[in-house]
Amino acid sequence: MDKKLIESEAMAIMDEAAARIMAPYEGECLLCYVYRQLTEFGCDGGHRFARSFRDSTAPRATALLRNLARAGACCCDCEIFLNAYRLGPRPLVLHFKRSSAPAEADDEEDGEPFLWCQGVRRGSTQGCGNWVRMWR
Ligand SMILES: [Zn+2]
Ligand SMILES: [Zn+2]
Repeated sequence: MDKKLIESEAMAIMDEAAARIMAPYEGECLLCYVYRQLTEFGCDGGHRFARSFRDSTAPRATALLRNLARAGACCCDCEIFLNAYRLGPRPLVLHFKRSSAPAEADDEEDGEPFLWCQGVRRGSTQGCGNWVRMWR
């Protein structure tokens, strides 16, 4: 079997796995989604996560990338968090335990902090209450 073919099959499997991981949660907002993906996969220098959010939850939001560009994220996803939005004063942060034991209120510091989306209407491209707009 030639090497190219093996590589392309491996790529196909990875693409499939990535597509599963990359789907936004039900009600997850654009910003939490992009933030989560950037933490996991990093920025590729384009708007791949903003684009995949739009394609999977808000296909009619054709102005999304234009609006992001106007907000300061002209060229890639991570610019959204450098130039346009930052975490607000009261983001919803949950703590997940590595163990399966239920978390006690007083030892939540032991859990891994995890930004949890406060949720938006389906089809919305707004950020949830975790985020505030940066004004420069
Ligand atoms: Zn970037
Ligand atoms: Zn959110």
